[in-house]
Amino acid sequence: MGAAAQVDSVGAKTARAEDAPERRRVRRPWFLPEGRLLSGELWQQRHRGLTILLWIHVPALFVYGVFRDATPQDAALQVAILVVPATIALVPMLGRNVQSASTSLGLVIAASILVHMSGGSIEAHFQFFVVIAFLTLYQAWLPFLLALAYVIGEHGVLGAIDPRAVYNNPSDIAHPWKFALIHGGFVLAASVANVLSWRLTEQEALHDGLTGLPNRAFLLDSLTKLLGSRGRRNSAVLYVDLDNFKNANDAFGHQVGDELLIALARRLEGQLRAGDVIARLGGDEFAILLTDTEDRAQVHATAKRLLTAFGSPVRINDLTIVAGASIGVAFTEDADTAENVLRDADLAMYEAKRDGGGRVAEYRPQLHSAAVRRAELEVELRAALSEDQFVLHYQPIVDLRTERIVGTEALVRWQHPVHGLLGPDEFITAAEMSGLIVPLGGWVVREACRQTAAWALLTPDRAPLSVAVNLSPVQLLDRTLVGTVAEALHDSGLEPSRLCLEITEGSVIKDFDAIMPTLCALRTLGVSLALDDFGTGYSSLSYLKELPVNSVKIDRSFVHDLDASTHNGKIVLAIIELAHALGMSVTAEGAETNGQLDTLKAMRSDHAQGYLLGRPVEHWHIERRLDEQRPQSCSTTAGLPTQRNPGRESVVSPGGNR
Ligand code: C2E
Ligand code: MG
Ligand code: MG
Repeated sequence: MGAAAQVDSVGAKTARAEDAPERRRVRRPWFLPEGRLLSGELWQQRHRGLTILLWIHVPALFVYGVFRDATPQDAALQVAILVVPATIALVPMLGRNVQSASTSLGLVIAASILVHMSGGSIEAHFQFFVVIAFLTLYQAWLPFLLALAYVIGEHGVLGAIDPRAVYNNPSDIAHPWKFALIHGGFVLAASVANVLSWRLTEQEALHDGLTGLPNRAFLLDSLTKLLGSRGRRNSAVLYVDLDNFKNANDAFGHQVGDELLIALARRLEGQLRAGDVIARLGGDEFAILLTDTEDRAQVHATAKRLLTAFGSPVRINDLTIVAGASIGVAFTEDADTAENVLRDADLAMYEAKRDGGGRVAEYRPQLHSAAVRRAELEVELRAALSEDQFVLHYQPIVDLRTERIVGTEALVRWQHPVHGLLGPDEFITAAEMSGLIVPLGGWVVREACRQTAAWALLTPDRAPLSVAVNLSPVQLLDRTLVGTVAEALHDSGLEPSRLCLEITEGSVIKDFDAIMPTLCALRTLGVSLALDDFGTGYSSLSYLKELPVNSVKIDRSFVHDLDASTHNGKIVLAIIELAHALGMSVTAEGAETNGQLDTLKAMRSDHAQGYLLGRPVEHWHIERRLDEQRPQSCSTTAGLPTQRNPGRESVVSPGGNR
């Protein structure tokens, strides 16, 4: 089970926000469409089709009139009326309402002319049903209602003045208004089917199928209307992302995940006012458009209230799940378009997540510039990968008993065409966020294995080196990792036990359940695992016992101030003894002075790594070091650096130990 999702199979009593809805939302009758505007392009397409249909009626009705024994002048006069609305419909500057009303009126007038010309034939009246059906394509009330009103009005008025122009049945002719209403009633009834289909299309296009909430398109449409009608004041968008949805989904299955989303959607609805729009944007993301807000403080208070609502447990079957959420807030007055308001709220939500989740963050312009920088960096990283701009530097790891190099840690660098050699701190986070760490990390494993196997061939007279490669949490969650490692070992011919994969405590603990099978599969390949930067994370001893790791690397922050009598000294000694007791070996990172090295030896650390023993360097420096360590040139200090003053600390310093 994920750390975030709690199961209570005995059915603990839970606080249920849905039991106490604050304010109910007023909804329109379910069967009526909202009357959402079509996008500009779609509206143009449909309007063009309907206007062409109207224009086709002009020659067609003329021919029909002449065919029905009208004189050509008479037929032309009747048909000429149609040219007026058909022409108005062609003028874009009149706007959607006028244009669609014209086409609509034109089409029903055409139906009336057909009825006239046919002498009130009942079959000709069917044309009205066809017109009504076509007019629903506008998905707007105005042309639709106009056509209905016209049918009733025209049949009543003209039926009263000249009944034979509209009806050919004696009882209809005797009671024109009565039959105009009956006629209108039937047209209205026929319209119900059209309205329902319009409603369903709209529902599908503008709502989320799972929760029934409005979707992104609906939200953006509402926001656009709001920005247009009231300017940019007094409204805000809250972007909500569940913190632990993935865990719940993985642990309990998609069915439970879906039910959780539905329950949370209902809970959200119960927390908000009529007029606020709650949308599901997809996955576990929701957005809320708050209108008519008093001030920013009120928006923050609402966001906090929602956090509390999300934080209280949800019961699904016999499970109790706590989801938790992160909320980003953006105010409409800080952006110019609906898309930008939503984007800003999204950026703020990411900020809330970066701060650990379960909190509210407000948009700041810096978030946008940082996102732009990240996006640019991502593009550059992609290019760097395909153009082989990454290089590996290797930092020696020394056995403290023999004082010889027994392995290296492979540390990635980016040979940037403009900025020069960049250290991992400058790009690993961006690579992780974009997912590019997967191909990049794959390359690191392959290259480190290839290089280490090549060293073994170069120095057959000494024990082959091992290599440590850092794995990011994102790689650990990637399904291709085990295959990538197996392939790298196979292709390079490196003995699996010579590859050590370094993981950090934080990454393992956060997704313990998901990562454990991967770690076990890696161990099955025969590679070893090390817990990197030990002491800086949670350092949970119970996890240390459960993890299939072979060694721990003590973080350099402890080694920095290392004296057996200091706190750090006591911590390092305790870690070494604990690791040994659990059958693990220990590497101390960041050894910079002889004093530290002596203390580490006295504490029986197995290995050490640090600037004193060698900075991260390109492969040929390591080859030179190995050459110096050949048996014939071996002295008692073989393997220890010639440089006793390591100089200024630098992340990227090829050849710094020379
Ligand atoms: P790390 O795995 O803890 O690597 C050790 C870091 O400590 C290296 O920094 C190394 O240059 C530095 N270091 C070693 N000895 C000393 C010392 O005596 N004094 C000081 N002040 N620093 C020392 P680097 O190369 O900048 O790497 C930083 C971090 O970037 C690494 O920490 C690792 O977490 C990450 N990283 C590096 N390469 C990769 C990679 O290929 N993949 C992933 N996912 N992360 C990497
Ligand atoms: Mg490391
Ligand atoms: Mg480390």
